[in-house]
Amino acid sequence: MEKKPLLVTCGLPYTNGPCHLGHLRTYVPADFYVRFLRRAGEDVVFVCGSDNHGTPIVVMAEEQGVTPADLSRKYHAHFDDIFRRMGVLFDHFGMTDGETNHRRTRSLVKALQDHGYVYSQVIQQSYCPVCQRSLPDRYVEGLCPHCGALARGDECDQGCGKHLEPGEIRKPKCRICGTEAELREQEHYFFRLSAFRDMLLSYLPDLGGTSNARNYAIGWVKDELHDWCITRTLEWGVRFPGKEDLVVYVWVDAPIGYISFTEEWAGKTGGDWQRFWCRDGDIIHFIGSDIIYHHCIFWPALLSGAGYHPPSAVVASGMVKIDDQKFSKSRGYVVWTGEDYLDRGLDPDYLRYYLLSYTSHTKELNFSWQGFAERVNNELVSTLGNFLYRSLYFTTQFFGTVPEGPVDPEVLDHIQKTLDGVEKAVRDYEFKGAVDGMMALAAYGNTYIQNQAPWKLVKTDRAAAEAVIRNCLQLVHALTLLMEPVMPGVAERAWRMLGHADPVAAHGIREGLEPVKAGALPDPAPLFAKMESDQVKGLDDLLKKRVKEAKMREQERTGISIEEFARLDIRTAKVLSAEPVKGAKKLVKLQVDIGDGTRQVIAGIAEFYPVESLVGKDIVVVVNLKPAKIFGLESQAMLLAAGDRASLLTPLSPVPPGTKIR
Ligand SMILES: [Zn+2]
Ligand SMILES: [Zn+2]
Repeated sequence: MEKKPLLVTCGLPYTNGPCHLGHLRTYVPADFYVRFLRRAGEDVVFVCGSDNHGTPIVVMAEEQGVTPADLSRKYHAHFDDIFRRMGVLFDHFGMTDGETNHRRTRSLVKALQDHGYVYSQVIQQSYCPVCQRSLPDRYVEGLCPHCGALARGDECDQGCGKHLEPGEIRKPKCRICGTEAELREQEHYFFRLSAFRDMLLSYLPDLGGTSNARNYAIGWVKDELHDWCITRTLEWGVRFPGKEDLVVYVWVDAPIGYISFTEEWAGKTGGDWQRFWCRDGDIIHFIGSDIIYHHCIFWPALLSGAGYHPPSAVVASGMVKIDDQKFSKSRGYVVWTGEDYLDRGLDPDYLRYYLLSYTSHTKELNFSWQGFAERVNNELVSTLGNFLYRSLYFTTQFFGTVPEGPVDPEVLDHIQKTLDGVEKAVRDYEFKGAVDGMMALAAYGNTYIQNQAPWKLVKTDRAAAEAVIRNCLQLVHALTLLMEPVMPGVAERAWRMLGHADPVAAHGIREGLEPVKAGALPDPAPLFAKMESDQVKGLDDLLKKRVKEAKMREQERTGISIEEFARLDIRTAKVLSAEPVKGAKKLVKLQVDIGDGTRQVIAGIAEFYPVESLVGKDIVVVVNLKPAKIFGLESQAMLLAAGDRASLLTPLSPVPPGTKIR
């Protein structure tokens, strides 16, 4: 029987910023899944592409003075490069602004219209009278109609997280100039999502993938389904058929990209894209859990309404935290894949291992550099690396070549059980379970070689030592094949050390049970390097610095609050005495009356005033700064002065010393 081909896709990266750890949480497991299934003998096509349309890209391009197309091309190239360097290898990586997707989107929307699932309606659309334009989605900010939080036009991003339809936001303001928006009537087009309730209720219970995606989606359908406005008044995007001033909403043409990228892949390879989208091929979407609604409700309804084949599984990854904080680019809680990781020469395979093994795919991943380094050092270096290297090292040291003879049935049994367990875990989308299974086999090998101590045995019983090493090499062989989907680079190096010249990816996972290649082995080298504590500290400091800078930027942007200002104790003071500071030409030592006591002030104003002229002056001081030591003398308040010549601030009309400045 011919096996059904499988299409795997990844949520499309949006081209308005660089790749970060949050992206990789979805891409690395998807790549692992594809590599594993291929090595288990399945026919898998893996496509993705960049998401180029929508208002955030237009707004950002405007801010940077470039075109949305330029911005998209720049970040498209960036993602393409980063994915390759991370070993995330798509068969095709397209762009939603590509010609194929423009054509496919218009054709699909036309099909929806023909089937009666699109209707027009006049709605109240926000309009900026100053910028003289309509304000779709991110062009408008205001209050969420559901929870009252500050929200953007298309989503309550800081409150309840609900999707907002055009015209729903309260108190809309133009995001570009801040002007209160006017409401203008405009004709838009809606997708009749509400007509798909029964279709979704019968489709969703059988949807494969992770249960979080399925369960959320079923809950939402039972709750309520609103029709979606699928047009926007915008230049950038896919033209809505027959309307010069409208483009389709980005959440329509972005998922249609999955089809277009499959078409483009088929064009390059002679493959059959319709097998997946129009007939019976399996489609699995890997996405972040923030876009479950779009993939499990909106998208299957759209496909079904236009006469296409809906996905068979949706695999949704949990979110990423950084140092126990919610992932946030603006607050600095972010790890950039290029700048912070790859560009510093860190091994992509370590990060792949970490992302896969940290926790279940659907759970939250809490990243810290310390935690990352611990896993590298304790698991990769001490367990896996140690076992692989020792086995290969003793082979070349004692025998030079792979010892011949049978492998202990118990060792083969262990390998067999590991292969079965790992494969089941992968098919259940339990990627952590799969990697843990591989590591358990490494730990078994480590204990085995430690207990058998071939380095001692070889001195008394050479044949027994050969048997031990042969068993170890069988485990190394199986582990190397298992490692490839997780850490392709390391696996390739280990494969060479086992005497192979062809790529490890050309071999099936189940070959781990077959005999190890006979012959001489080259000298091995350690496969993993320990992360040193100063390196970890450097990476951690970088993250802390970024968070601090973000906080300062935020303070600059928002200013200090009236409460923060009120914490400053600023008062008038009368100078009681003044004397020069010996050895410091610029400093004077003042005693000042601050109303409820006397304070000593050391100030750098000796160049500008004859010291004796200061006595009796009314000045202004801050009295609740932390005391400072200046030239060995304590300064218990700071006087306020303006300009290069330290012009002292003084009250215009007399007030008693200690009068609070407000
Ligand atoms: Zn405006
Ligand atoms: Zn809300």
